[in-house]
Amino acid sequence: MERRGIHVGCRSREGVAAVERLLGEIAPRLGFNWIVLGVTGHFAYQSHPEAAEPDSMDAADARRLAKLARDNSITLVPEYNCLGHQSFKDKPHALLRARPEFNEAPDMDMEAFEFHNFYSWCPNRPEVYEIVFDLIDELTDAFGAEQFHVGMDEVFVLGECPRCKGTPNSELFAKAVNDLHEHVVRKRGLEMMMWGDRLLPPSTGYSMWERSNNDTEGAIDMIARDIVLCDWHYEVMDQDDYPSIAYFQERGFRVWPAGWNELDAVRRLIEVARRDASEKMLGYLATTWVPVGDLVPALAGEQVQTDSAELPKVVDCVKSGADLLQK
Ligand SMILES: [Zn+2]
Repeated sequence: MERRGIHVGCRSREGVAAVERLLGEIAPRLGFNWIVLGVTGHFAYQSHPEAAEPDSMDAADARRLAKLARDNSITLVPEYNCLGHQSFKDKPHALLRARPEFNEAPDMDMEAFEFHNFYSWCPNRPEVYEIVFDLIDELTDAFGAEQFHVGMDEVFVLGECPRCKGTPNSELFAKAVNDLHEHVVRKRGLEMMMWGDRLLPPSTGYSMWERSNNDTEGAIDMIARDIVLCDWHYEVMDQDDYPSIAYFQERGFRVWPAGWNELDAVRRLIEVARRDASEKMLGYLATTWVPVGDLVPALAGEQVQTDSAELPKVVDCVKSGADLLQK
């Protein structure tokens, strides 16, 4: 369990103070040595200011966080959500607000889906990367990062636009991964991480959220093996098993299993990670998906006024996960 990680998002300048406290106090106390920081549009980009959300952290904040991480022997990894997750339902995030022509399926009904859906950018538009590579470079430089997380989870919208229609989704997904790999790994020399869900076939038994449901899984044979796959699974499985951990390693990938808010699932995921570990199994990543400004004081044991029903469960899972990783 070499990489003991927490994943948090920072969506406002106010959140920066909480991330500082996480890096300086809470993570070291709990024994976490990696933090993946979800940033995406929440950064005051200089190269493309139109791709920034309001009230975002800036490069000086990032440099302060990076120093705090180094001082506490924590590896801090910035994340930019690529390809999918470019909106919340039909509300586009900053990049697609600024460049609506990048939207793969602007007329698709984001409510007509099992739960809800999110827009994707078109993987066949080179102009997307003329912007996104600049954003990745800014984050990498500001954080002094040696790893970069490109997101890529829950991509449900692919192959819809005239440029993409007719190409298999596995090829479209692999193209997006390979374009990012060319920049992040070959040009910048970073380790690239991504969520692994779109590479898992339905036969793994996971729900449509946790594996491919639109024929993207074949991309696993078309992408570089040096990508770290963050293998998130949040559901308690019928068979009490998480077969993707072995699957990814057998295919030659390093795998970083990730859990969330169900203690039974977290406990079992860590057990299976240990059971199926080769040298390619990296550890455990605790995801949180609650505001970092609520999470950090709650992890410190303080009373928190919050609208988040998930918070107590998440806190329990992060702390219990930390205990299990010490064993
Ligand atoms: Zn397209």
